[in-house]
Order: sequence, then structure tokens, then C-alpha cells
Amino acid sequence: MSHTTDLSINLATIRAQCDLRAACEACARHGIAWVAPWRDQLAATGLAEAARILAGNGLKATGLCRGGMFTTAPDALDDNRRAIDEAAAIGATHLVLVVGGLPAGSRDLAAARRRVADGLAALLPYARAAGMPLAIEPLHPMYAPDRACVNTLAQALDLCDALGDGVGVVLDTYHLWWDPELWPQIARAGRDGRILAHHISDFLVPTRDLLNDRGMMGDGVIDFPAFRRAVAAAGFGGPQEVEIFSTEWAQKPGEAVIATCIERFNSVC
Ligand code: ZN
Repeated sequence: MSHTTDLSINLATIRAQCDLRAACEACARHGIAWVAPWRDQLAATGLAEAARILAGNGLKATGLCRGGMFTTAPDALDDNRRAIDEAAAIGATHLVLVVGGLPAGSRDLAAARRRVADGLAALLPYARAAGMPLAIEPLHPMYAPDRACVNTLAQALDLCDALGDGVGVVLDTYHLWWDPELWPQIARAGRDGRILAHHISDFLVPTRDLLNDRGMMGDGVIDFPAFRRAVAAAGFGGPQEVEIFSTEWAQKPGEAVIATCIERFNSVC
């Protein structure tokens, strides 16, 4: 039986096929209740119009993707404040943060991590005032050089501990499945009220491309029911969000991709 109200479609999954309007209309046709748009999609559509398109299709926004990049963007604080405003304008439940990797030419990972902590601390008062939770997304360590130097759930939760209220984590199966500390750290995240999102995609063997070869659930090595049970036991009742960056799936019609997401969600996750 289909239970699409527990499913969110991250619009990166069908960005090659559908602009924001087409993606929202397709999701609505399939009974999807949640989507996660990207900032460039809001910019291309216009913020007010994007909010109208979501509401007109009965869709709520899980996360807005994305802010962050504290280590490399020279205007990171201003840009992240704009991202918070945009997330609030579409009623998103949180702003996803991909925190940034090493600055060009640097090999100082510890310094990059300090800069992330400082950037989060500087941004947090604005996020709290806007009532917009900041969701730190730990990424698989293969992205430490250029995307995110926060690479484990424990590391993200340590940042949350230091920062206090208004910040939490994204649990993404693709990034976290390999971590031997995963289950106790998911329990810790739940105890501390830090779980803001649960992203799903599979880890393919082999993974042929660092960025654009994520798998549809069931095509790789991740134990989705075990992950879901841990997240549910930790008290998170929000939707699971399919987020697949894939040159392979980008070549299939958007409607077919959504239909497959729903079918796999129901049969695998
Ligand atoms: Zn994710």
C-alpha cells in the first residue's frame, strides 16, 4: 500500500527533467505531500511565485537546500542569512547546511573545522530570530576536501552540543550508512531533539562518480529498514526524503522517477 504522505521528494532528484513548477505538479499528481527545493530553483521561479506553486499543489517544504559553505564563500554569513529568509518564505521546516570543505590550496582540515564552528555560531542568532532551524548535514568523508568537513554524525552532534538551541542534523543514509557508531549516535540525536531530516538514497557498488552516482533505494548496499527503525526509535516522525543525484536517473522521465521512488519507498524502506 502506498503511503506517500511519509515521503518527500528532494527536487534535485528530478531537476534535470523538471523545473520547480513541473516538479511540484508531478509530485502532486503522485500524492506526494512534501518536497525539498533548491535555492537556485526558487531564484529561477521567483520566491513569492515558488511559495504559491508549493501551496497551490498542496505541498509543504521539508528542507531548503542549501546554505553553509562557511569555509570557502567570502560572503558566507550574508548568503546564509538570505537562505534563512528564503526558507522562511516557503515555510520550510529547516535550512540544510553543507558546511564546506578545505579552502583552495589548504591542507589544514582542523582549521576548516574551526571555521565551520565559528560560522555556525555567527549565523545562529539570525536563524533563531527567524525561527528557522539550521540542519547540519554530515557528508561521507569522500566529500571532506570540497563539500563538507563535518563527516560523522557524532561530529555534527558535538557541534550542536556546543551551539545550543536552533540547530540539528540531517540523517542521510548515503553519507552515514558505513559509520560503526551510527546506531548509538542516532539514538543520541533523538535524545537531544536534534533530528531535523532523514534523507534516503542507496550506495552503489561500484560508485562510478563521486557526485552523480547515487542509487535508488534497493539498488545498493544500505539496510534501509534498519536505518528507519533506528530513526523511528529515536523519536523522529517526519517524512523520509528521497535525494538522488544521478546521471542515470536524470535520463529517465521525471514522472517515472517519482513513480519508482514511491514503489521503492514502499517495498524497500
Ligand atoms: Zn542529503
